Amino acid sequence: MDYVSLGSTDDIGASCHLLMVEGTGLMLDAGVHPDVDGPEGLPRLGLIQSRPDLWVDHVLVSHAHHDHLGALPVVLQRFPHALVHFTKPTRLLAEFLLRASARLQRRRLREGSSTADPLFDEDELAYHEYLYLPHDLNQPFNVTGVRGTSAIQATFYHAGHVLGAAGTLLTFEEAGQKRRVFYTGDVHLRPQVVTPAADLPDGPVDVLIMEATLGADASQEAVMRREEERRFAEALDAVIRRGGVALVPVFALGRSHEMLALIDRFKKRRMIDPDTPVYTAGSMRALAEIYDDTRLISPRLDANLTYAAIDQPRLPRSETALLNILREPGIVLVPSGMMFERTASNDLAQYLVDQEKHAVFLVGYAKPGSPAHRLHEAALQGEGTMVTLDPETGEQPVFCTVDRFRFSGHSHRKDLLTLVDRLRPKTVILVHGEPAAKAWMAEAIRAAHPDTTVVLPEIGVPVTV
Ligand SMILES: [Zn+2]
Ligand SMILES: [Zn+2]
Repeated sequence: MDYVSLGSTDDIGASCHLLMVEGTGLMLDAGVHPDVDGPEGLPRLGLIQSRPDLWVDHVLVSHAHHDHLGALPVVLQRFPHALVHFTKPTRLLAEFLLRASARLQRRRLREGSSTADPLFDEDELAYHEYLYLPHDLNQPFNVTGVRGTSAIQATFYHAGHVLGAAGTLLTFEEAGQKRRVFYTGDVHLRPQVVTPAADLPDGPVDVLIMEATLGADASQEAVMRREEERRFAEALDAVIRRGGVALVPVFALGRSHEMLALIDRFKKRRMIDPDTPVYTAGSMRALAEIYDDTRLISPRLDANLTYAAIDQPRLPRSETALLNILREPGIVLVPSGMMFERTASNDLAQYLVDQEKHAVFLVGYAKPGSPAHRLHEAALQGEGTMVTLDPETGEQPVFCTVDRFRFSGHSHRKDLLTLVDRLRPKTVILVHGEPAAKAWMAEAIRAAHPDTTVVLPEIGVPVTV
């Protein structure tokens, strides 16, 4: 079997992997780089087109985050005969999110905030949807290509990360030997507020393609979830009591719903004032509705849970109305989670970081160099330290409270090692992580399992495993 990474080598980047298995080309995920616009952010699809030994028969999408899904329409432009497989909730989320992405690309070009031509439009998405094949969890389906010489079965396993997220088990025969390959996608091995813990196939597997997001983060594994929830409730309560606004930058899919459900729980338990308004914006409301609807087709989600999400007021667009909101105590949950420039969380932060009564609470992963990371670093330097949230608007001093809470949707690194213990792979391919994260994981796996081969793939370089 040949494996090639088409996304990124040295950061989280665009997840996109190609497996050539006995004459079948399987693409695992079709993501774009989360903060690179236009064709630069795409995986290296040209490599497949330039080599006669590489092609795509099936695309298996692990979940609907942009870094795993965003390039799917471009993949289908280039390989129009490919079929797309995902879980039912991921299909619903994908239809919504790709349309939103097409509209956003068009708007950015029109407004001049991007010079990149849109990569796809809404009309072609409607056509692509005929190629989408949704599957239930734990139900094997066939992904053998037309030139395939061995039958290949795929099975999705609940991955715990966000609604619809799945790990993929591939089983096939290669040179008369039964082979099993497992791709984790993004995985969380412990329960969150609304998303249950991941499910894994039984071991052993031959090849494990595993995410390594938190591999360099030693603090994450020391955190007790209950304790972190209590600390978050107390921090929100303190801001509300002093009349401030707590800005919680979130990823629109996943983190936002976990946080809305958690805040709803705080209100019901009177850990914060139950009358505190909670504001959302953008696509969060529509995504919350999909979360609610898919409880019917995702029996693993708790059917008794009531989401606060769709009852929340929407963040107003006008500046005057926005400033009015900042006069009263409240909680604002808006994307983007890393506070990238020209997003609601970045815009709003510029209004509140210089006032002591407000707060910015980070609840997800913020990659080094992102505005969220810069803000946290500045706050650690002490009150009044200057930060640049958006180079176009310049520096400003930080006087508000800035704190970080460990509610990641990813497994911490010790849990990832237990995943290796359970699946007992002969080969581990480490993906989806900064170099330091992958290096730590590689060393820890080699120490615990000296017979296991660890591969740190380079973009565009095929490896035979
Ligand atoms: Zn993800
Ligand atoms: Zn990801």
